[in-house]
Amino acid sequence: MRRRSFLKTGFLASTAAALAGNGRAGVVASTDKSTAPKRKILAWSHSYLDFQGEEADVRREFERARNSGIELLFLFIHSVPQENNAWYNTDLPGFVVEDRLTRLQRISGETGLEIHPVILGVSDTGLSKSVRAARSYASGAPGGHKRDGTLCATWEATRAGTLRIAADVIARHEPKGLQVDFIRYWDTGIGLDWPCTCAACRQGYREFLGHDSLTAADLKNPGILYKYLQFRNVIITSHLLNFRRLLKQSGLEYSIAARADYFGSALVEGQDWLSWGRQGLVDFICPMNYKLDRKEHREILDLQLQILDGAVPVYSGIGRKWSGGEITAEEMIRQAEDALDLGAAGISIFHFNALREADFLALKEFAKRL
Ligand SMILES: [Zn+2]
Repeated sequence: MRRRSFLKTGFLASTAAALAGNGRAGVVASTDKSTAPKRKILAWSHSYLDFQGEEADVRREFERARNSGIELLFLFIHSVPQENNAWYNTDLPGFVVEDRLTRLQRISGETGLEIHPVILGVSDTGLSKSVRAARSYASGAPGGHKRDGTLCATWEATRAGTLRIAADVIARHEPKGLQVDFIRYWDTGIGLDWPCTCAACRQGYREFLGHDSLTAADLKNPGILYKYLQFRNVIITSHLLNFRRLLKQSGLEYSIAARADYFGSALVEGQDWLSWGRQGLVDFICPMNYKLDRKEHREILDLQLQILDGAVPVYSGIGRKWSGGEITAEEMIRQAEDALDLGAAGISIFHFNALREADFLALKEFAKRL
């Protein structure tokens, strides 16, 4: 019984059935490629960076964005990763709260620039230090690893906590949509070298391996690697479906930000987003295709669109400025044009704070193509 407290085996079995197509066929079959989704420009924005001025100044910023063709902002309302700031109205324990969202939603209503708050896909709040440590990724690497201490998605209680946070945002702010980011394991880059050794993961390994230790050497075996990736993907997919249930009950539009490298980081981290898209489990997807090079952006987006085959709208994430570099306004527009040419529904810019006057002018010109 203890195993099931972590993994909810029965539910995962039904999730696997859903993944296999049972019960979801109607969603796929209903995809009508003759009805093209509305083409749009979207942008990611950070509560801690953007829109800090007087109300009239913020209204002008919203109007400028709207006039340049940007229709929707994805607004991060928590610090990343998994820290404890909440920039919206909440009294959930553990958060340091400063409500910036209420004002922005009012201005959004006045200016027509829509806001979808961004929820962190694996998060929780109000945990004691010891509980947080127990539920966190534990690499087992000699001397530890920088990823140790971030919450491990295998814990059902953590996933329930994430949904509680999302439900709270929905109840208090009634947004029209929500974007889920970081819906995946957080052990970026080392999931195959140092598989998590937390209690919940070890319980899972026991179920597919017969014992609870899993090493990088084990993962050289294709069968074990397959079972490991499946274990992670089933957990994250079940979480995605729970988000879907919550958002659809509330009539919200449901989008995700997705890892660009599907066969690399995404699948290793349990984020099988192209399968989710093919099954219509989300309303639209923003793959974070941040590239300095136009050709690389084209290639990665083309592959994604080929696999999705029109099942859901894609807004290609274009990195104007991010941890990996910066591109010019002209390059941003070139990549945006490529996105439309390849069949994406539009673009999502990372990030709003990087946009300058030249960007807004260039976007306004580009928006004529939408
Ligand atoms: Zn774990």
